[in-house]
Amino acid sequence: MGIHSVEDLLTTYPRKYVDRSRIVSIADAEIGETVTIEGAVLKSALLRPKPRMSILQVDFEDSSGVMRCTWFNQPFRARDFVEGRRFAISGKVDSHRGHRQLSSPSYERLSERLSDADGRALPSDETVGTASLEIGRVVPVYPASAEINTALMRRLMSEAVNRAGEFADPLGDDERAALGVVGRTDAIRNIHFPGAMSAIEPARRRLVVDEVLRLQTALAMRKQRYESDAPGISHPGDSALAARLIESLPYRLTDAQVRVIGEIDADMASGLPMHRMLQGEVGSGKTVVAAAALCGAVAGGHQGALMAPTEVLADQHYLGIRGLLESIGVRVALLTGSVTGAERKRVLAEAMSGQIDVVVGTHALVHEGLAFRALGLAVVDEQHRFGVHQRVALRERGHQDETPDMLIMTATPIPRTLAITLYGDLDISILDEMPPGRLPVETRIIRSGEREQVYAAIQSEVASGRRAFIVCPLVEESPKLAATAAQEEFERLRTGPLSELSVGLLHGRMRAAEKERAMEALRSGEIDVLVATTVIEVGVDVPEASLIAVESAERFGISQLHQLRGRVGRGDVQSYCFLISDATEDDAAKRLEAVVLHSDGFVLAEEDLRLRGEGSLFGSRQAGRSDLLLTRLLDDLPLIVEVRKFAQKVVAAEPQLASHPLLRAEADATYSGDIDWLSRA
Ligand code: ADP
Ligand code: MG
Repeated sequence: MGIHSVEDLLTTYPRKYVDRSRIVSIADAEIGETVTIEGAVLKSALLRPKPRMSILQVDFEDSSGVMRCTWFNQPFRARDFVEGRRFAISGKVDSHRGHRQLSSPSYERLSERLSDADGRALPSDETVGTASLEIGRVVPVYPASAEINTALMRRLMSEAVNRAGEFADPLGDDERAALGVVGRTDAIRNIHFPGAMSAIEPARRRLVVDEVLRLQTALAMRKQRYESDAPGISHPGDSALAARLIESLPYRLTDAQVRVIGEIDADMASGLPMHRMLQGEVGSGKTVVAAAALCGAVAGGHQGALMAPTEVLADQHYLGIRGLLESIGVRVALLTGSVTGAERKRVLAEAMSGQIDVVVGTHALVHEGLAFRALGLAVVDEQHRFGVHQRVALRERGHQDETPDMLIMTATPIPRTLAITLYGDLDISILDEMPPGRLPVETRIIRSGEREQVYAAIQSEVASGRRAFIVCPLVEESPKLAATAAQEEFERLRTGPLSELSVGLLHGRMRAAEKERAMEALRSGEIDVLVATTVIEVGVDVPEASLIAVESAERFGISQLHQLRGRVGRGDVQSYCFLISDATEDDAAKRLEAVVLHSDGFVLAEEDLRLRGEGSLFGSRQAGRSDLLLTRLLDDLPLIVEVRKFAQKVVAAEPQLASHPLLRAEADATYSGDIDWLSRA
């Protein structure tokens, strides 16, 4: 179960609690009340009124009367209820044909060994409170495994809590009072064995503070380190070069772009290394903001780098950045895995000599022999990857004695909550305004039987000079299978429903040059429809594309669908997004409905978090145990903000945390110097 130490055990928190503190006699259990009764099995019957239906009826008896309990379609439970066995049963009393009963109550076997003739629990030294763990109290329910059931967990936990005694508390009395939290020892006792339901939340709150405090302390210390370790570069803010760029644009910057460029300028002009994240929806115009920042670096005699997660995206950025910067005299080069031979040699040599001002590329930038004469700004387009390692590595491409500024762009609208929690060490700029004239994409769920409608819509869009994407079902485990599926879909459409149109194919297993050719063909209008895997999810910019259809849309997550939808609606015509799916399963249907309902990526991201829960969010990041076990990012936001302020204050006052040695030790132990897990998203 991933439990290796007493600490692991104590941080295996209850999944839920059953309130058995109110035990009533059967005679006193009133309809509508939630109660716990204790009784022995009088008789049990498994009825099968229809072939595929079963009703298990068990009558329990105590000294005051008999209560019937029923379970539908759970015949396997019958073997639990051997006549005479005693159980504690909790549920809501309802009535059936005038008789009181409990429907599908939770129940737990009481150990007879510990009971006297009347069924009263016997106090006994030998049992170390075993009986009292199950009866007449709020009972914690633990995640169980085949070998370790929840009752055994309870006993182990009780033993651990009792033997652990007092816990050291990194927070002093005043600090606890200021944060409004109980002591750690109380918190750990009460999260496992609360005296009453009302004791759980204060305990949880305290432990959330501990979780968040460790993380925020580690982040604040890391930020402190960035800023003290290395002198940054004071770039000229508000350069003439950037002004020329802005004059050359065929449009006016949005207010948000102006504001964010100002924030970045101020950081770049300061002598501290910038460490800023630029968040903006797909299509919000991050490229020109990055270009303006690059101008600032170049104007001050430095170079810039822009790194993208994929070749397709690096190519796109190269075209975009070169389009913006070349006309104002900035020299831009591309360096990816497919740039080879003499061209590669030239780029490497000219980056070194300073003839090239800006290099756009993939991770190849950091892996292969690239060195700059004077790197002043590294822009990392992470899209939705959170890669700490690459950021750091790219930064090291610069001069030893000056730390380049760092701008991290992301198109994933990260809920504020999450941004604060995960990126406590970054400053954040948000492009919260779309360029004018964009129409919201009309989004619809289409049943697979109605697929013909989609093809008809594609024909009509193409007839008006526009283009379409068709996204093949997600095959996450295997890019190879995904490629095969895309190939088949491509053949089917090309020879079948879309035979009158010119159809192209793009998938992850194609060579970079082939991918670029496919994209270029769509951009130029040589093809009308591009059948693709999710490789188009990021950064593809074809303003004429007005329709995207996603096959088996239920297989995608909310943010993925939102990213895919961002491929259209980039021009000023009405665009459409068709989510093809027969999903009826609750969660999948809710996800699709959320995408239909909301066009705001931030709202969707929060919705996603709400639907999937933090568990999935952090669970996927770390194979083993997560560091935020009790924290609920959405609900605990105010507390997270408060704790973050507290951590920043403590670290600002004493960078080495001299008077908080325990806090320092816990932060170090949990995040061991660096926060590697961010890169495993
Ligand atoms: P992002 O990278 O944030 O997804 P881009 O930078 O690729 O978005 O911009 C999307 C499109 O919007 C591009 O075609 C760009 O030229 C255009 N654009 C950017 N800013 C503006 C603006 N202020 N007004 C009009 N169009 C803009
Ligand atoms: Mg972009």
